Amino acid sequence: MAKQTLVHDETVIGLEIHVQLLTASKIFCGCATTFGAPPNTLTCPVCLGLPGALPVLNRRAVELGLRTALALNCRVAPRSQFHRKNYFYPDLPKNYQISQYQYADHSPLATDGRLEIVVEDRRLEVGIRRVHLEEDTGRLVHDAGLSSGGSLIDFNRSGVALMEIVTEPDLRSPLQAREFLTALRRLLQFAEVSTGRMEEGTLRCDANVSLQRRGGPPGTRTEVKNMNSIRSVERALAFEIERQRTLAARGEAVVQETRHWEEHREVTFASRAKEEAQDYRYFPEPDLVPLVVDAAWIEQVRGLVPELPAARRDRFIAVFGLSPYDAELLTATPTTAAFYERAVALFPHPKTIANWLIGDVTAHLNETGRDLDQVALTPHRLSALLRLIDDGTISGRIAKDVLVEMIREDRDPAAIIETRGLRQISDQDALAQVVDAVIAEHPGPVAEVRAGKARAIGFLVGQVMKATGGRANPEAVNRLLRSRLVS
Ligand code: ZN
Ligand code: MN
Repeated sequence: MAKQTLVHDETVIGLEIHVQLLTASKIFCGCATTFGAPPNTLTCPVCLGLPGALPVLNRRAVELGLRTALALNCRVAPRSQFHRKNYFYPDLPKNYQISQYQYADHSPLATDGRLEIVVEDRRLEVGIRRVHLEEDTGRLVHDAGLSSGGSLIDFNRSGVALMEIVTEPDLRSPLQAREFLTALRRLLQFAEVSTGRMEEGTLRCDANVSLQRRGGPPGTRTEVKNMNSIRSVERALAFEIERQRTLAARGEAVVQETRHWEEHREVTFASRAKEEAQDYRYFPEPDLVPLVVDAAWIEQVRGLVPELPAARRDRFIAVFGLSPYDAELLTATPTTAAFYERAVALFPHPKTIANWLIGDVTAHLNETGRDLDQVALTPHRLSALLRLIDDGTISGRIAKDVLVEMIREDRDPAAIIETRGLRQISDQDALAQVVDAVIAEHPGPVAEVRAGKARAIGFLVGQVMKATGGRANPEAVNRLLRSRLVS
């Protein structure tokens, strides 16, 4: 019997992203959404699912959902409906989740959008199937250290406003998935819809993946969950694709199932058979009226969408004369973009500020693993530092050391320069003493300079800089040496 070889030349990936919206209160009750509050202190009969409690939709959650829908070029449904998604789990007190579902003439909040991304210099348009609103579940704490070995439950998160974004299966590689998530997170942050922090769970991504022959029927897909960073999504997908390829090569079938990504072992493992939509017994939520969004409301929301990443980048290129590469880096996060603009307003040298932010500042942040908004450096202090270079108080070399202190310590550059005695020495008499001492100590190089070897003067300048701990004004030193050695 001829050995059958299955050739799968295409990977098909679709993503489902849950986003915690930046609302002050939960989606169907007035409980606060404060992060890190003591367990079960932010609850009420509605979000605990007590009998007789009735949900009321949070207008702000709808507005943030609409804002996202517009940013993703979606079609907003004039009328959408909430549904009950029925299943049992201990973190779900009502035994159903209020969500939105798409079937027949029932539409979720928005559909048919797209987000354009750039992967390896090529533009790729990723379809957005839908954007819908729903409530979050409570949180189970499994490692609570109970002697019984049981788990605890915290309902603070129960009822927090979530937005679910589902892509079309348009992604073809783990790298494309990573780039899409990076672009989406950036969009959500600039739109001020979510903090987008995967490590804190405000952005969660599940990935559907299958292999197929180009143009052939879709293969059986698996769903991968439990990734807590964009990097893990990429790694989990790479693992899962390889696993499916190996199965196919052995002639074994891929089973449709949900698989969990195990971060430490870097593998996925089967956790449960994948539910079908009919398993959830969706039906319209009888306690909520349909959500009606008219054109006037959409226009009002459109007027409030903050400047999005692509527009911000283009403006930085046009207004500040930055290269596309620099503009891209300076609009990586809203924090960086705002910091840059504020610093330029205080010290109008856009290219200089860009160089410092992209160079030294980023290098130190990467070393410490912190973000710009987690350190003591402010736009005001950075611009003050650059002004001190400009007026000759310190050299650019010394400024690099001062910057490191400014990132670590909550102090102004002038104070750091004073306490550490870093002020540049431009005083002729003070410099002349050091220059004369260096000339006396290095007769060899001095003779070379006198013999016309101009290059040797660099060595002597270096010795003066060394003797002054880098504080000498190099130009003044050069002038002094020449006046003494070159007739
Ligand atoms: Zn509540
Ligand atoms: Mn969901």
